[in-house]
Amino acid sequence: MKAYKASVFHMVNDPAVVGANAAHKFYEDGMLVVDGGHVVMAGERSLLEPSLDANTEIVDHSGKIIVPGFIDTHIHYPQIDMMASFGEELLDWLEKYTFPEEAKFADPAHAKDAAEFFIEELLRNGTTTALVYGTVHKTSVEALFTEAYSRGMRIVAGKALMDRNVPDAVRDTAESGDADSRELINKWHGKGRLGYAITPRFAPACSDEQMALAGKLLAEHDDVLMHTHLSENGAEIDWVEKLYPTAKDYLDVYAKFGLLTDRSVFAHCIHMEGEEFQRMAEADAAIAFCPTSNLFLGSGLFHLKEAEKYGIKVGLGTDVGAGTSVSILQTMNEAYKVCHLKGDKLTPFKSFYLATLGGAKALNMADKVGNFETGKEADFLVLDMTATPLLARRTANCKSLDETLFVLTMLGDDRTVSHTYVAGEIQHERG
Ligand SMILES: [Zn+2]
Repeated sequence: MKAYKASVFHMVNDPAVVGANAAHKFYEDGMLVVDGGHVVMAGERSLLEPSLDANTEIVDHSGKIIVPGFIDTHIHYPQIDMMASFGEELLDWLEKYTFPEEAKFADPAHAKDAAEFFIEELLRNGTTTALVYGTVHKTSVEALFTEAYSRGMRIVAGKALMDRNVPDAVRDTAESGDADSRELINKWHGKGRLGYAITPRFAPACSDEQMALAGKLLAEHDDVLMHTHLSENGAEIDWVEKLYPTAKDYLDVYAKFGLLTDRSVFAHCIHMEGEEFQRMAEADAAIAFCPTSNLFLGSGLFHLKEAEKYGIKVGLGTDVGAGTSVSILQTMNEAYKVCHLKGDKLTPFKSFYLATLGGAKALNMADKVGNFETGKEADFLVLDMTATPLLARRTANCKSLDETLFVLTMLGDDRTVSHTYVAGEIQHERG
């Protein structure tokens, strides 16, 4: 058994539903007790410490804040080397930068090198769980799962299905995409903490046959996820309309093939109307809100309050490599600005909710991760409020928890994460 001494903060509910005070727990002089990779208890140190048995190891993170591991609900690991590619909107950006980069992942050695760097980068930023795109190549997912398994992480990933309207080097067929997905599910889904997501690239890159096979595969496996893109960019939406003239809208395309379910995660959902949100809510599907990417590609502003109104599950996504940071703290920063431009105020409690428990709900794993309820898996990170001179100076003046948290979400980044623990094991310590 180990006990971590620090301030401890976690979300236990959605602040938009129950209010900020009922939604969070904060123990200023707190303790997190962990055993066998699971949370025993989080609470006041004065209450927990006397009950610990004599051989409990005490780890001292005094002066810092322990929070649950961050959850990234949408990221492309093969795009880590093409972040910050200049000047294009979605469709041209895919053609010019993304597909040539992803073609490199046919080479297992390249995939291994990128996967190792990517996983380390997640941990350095305090991200302990992510829903990840591979490339069209099975090898890309093999490499990622191999690395994530060795670090004990809860990672969900899938090979991208893309059998039309893409270059030959990154194209599969409906049959090969289905066969590769099945093989990866059999080999990796449920191994350690890994999970599989059936991953149609996006409707314009998948034939009807491929979409239908994806829907069939999803129906056959009742605990795999479905992960795709939806309603990101104006030209993309026009294209979908041309490709599917009989569909009611973009969401309906996925629905027609059995891909709109309570295990479906849709990245972006920027240009959606109330009724489309309504159908998503009825299906209990989830949205990955990716603010740095949406701003970077000039895609538009996601309307979080509108999604909230319908009770849709929402998590935060970095969407690297269109996203400009692997850091969930930086993603909270941009999320705040996007909400501001929509006329809404994103509180730090809501930001932390989206990044932890909300993300866990979006990925249907809130019974396992997302906060420090007894029995959950002990994924957590340690935030250092003195990580930079500016942060130290600014947080020293904070007069309340919400002010401190807000400053962390605005000024924090990878430097703010001093330690990252996965299932109770240390996996990153800032050098
Ligand atoms: Zn994406």
